Amino acid sequence: MRNVVIIGSGCAGNTAAVYAARANLKPLVVSGHEAGGQLSLTTLVENFPGFPEGINGPDLVENIKKQAEHFGAEYVHGNVLEADLSQRPFRLNVEGEWTETRTVIVASGASARWLGLPSEQKLIGHGVSSCATCDGFFYRNKKIMVIGGGDSAMEEANFLTRFGQEVALVHRREEFRASKIMLDRVRANPKVKLLTNTVVEEIFDVSKDLVTGARLHNVKTGQTWDEPVDGFFVAIGHIPNTAVFQGQILTDADGYILSQGGARTNVKGVFHAGDVQDRTYRQAITAAGAGCMAAIEAERFLEAEGH
Ligand code: NAP
Repeated sequence: MRNVVIIGSGCAGNTAAVYAARANLKPLVVSGHEAGGQLSLTTLVENFPGFPEGINGPDLVENIKKQAEHFGAEYVHGNVLEADLSQRPFRLNVEGEWTETRTVIVASGASARWLGLPSEQKLIGHGVSSCATCDGFFYRNKKIMVIGGGDSAMEEANFLTRFGQEVALVHRREEFRASKIMLDRVRANPKVKLLTNTVVEEIFDVSKDLVTGARLHNVKTGQTWDEPVDGFFVAIGHIPNTAVFQGQILTDADGYILSQGGARTNVKGVFHAGDVQDRTYRQAITAAGAGCMAAIEAERFLEAEGH
């Protein structure tokens, strides 16, 4: 019987693990298929307090993990496949093995959103990617396209100009959701070509198992054309990883956990941390803070029960 199982090993889960481990709760962290969370897919993080020169995302999240392990947190690879939160102890199926636990911290984060085009799905890993940091390297001196109008799209477009000969940034509206500073950087980058009011209709070429271009449509002018491109990066936001808790933990229509105050979910003894609940701030530092809150709540919950 575990005191606490933490689901997710991003900034939220790892920070929860540091706090829970230092409270002697010997937490078990289920890493998830995207171990390290979104930070493991970023490059330099310049806004995490305490690092005046910035720190690499993967290093940051790995450091927090080491810190948690130093205090006795245990990590297990894989995903939670099923969860029974209907009675205590809670039961979690981790890659086929059931684990019982008195409390759960859900820090399973959010995964990349896709456009949903059949051609996109078929070409994932063959020129279609959701991670510039992971795959940008393959497109040296090639033509790259980035989809999206938020900070992620700006960041990816800028980053990809290190590799590509040209980066076309395609956004479905005129106005950008991105912060001004990120947008200004993109506008000032001569290698980025902005295509606004533009949607993607299809990605070529499924028959070659390789991205060769995209059919674009300008929703204002009505023009449709084919743009040759080698790398296609989708940066249109994320979907919270809550499918496994559906019908048990209350979420909003998009699947984000509905907080019941602090780090509490509607299920007593189950707490939330990070992007799985937060659709507003979604920062490394807010996720870390949320992980701390969840661990403190779990600790107090267990203490009140005499554990
Ligand atoms: P986001 O802010 O939600 O932006 C998603 C973008 O994708 C929007 O422009 C949206 O268009 C577009 N989009 C969504 N669905 C689409 C679809 N089906 N087809 C075409 N376009 C679609 O997501 P994000 O950029 O990933 O950022 C998430 C959070 O992380 C934000 O809080 C952001 O500030 C933060 N972030 C910060 C940094 C940094 O500071 N270094 C870097 C990355 C992210 P509409 O605008 O038309 O809805």
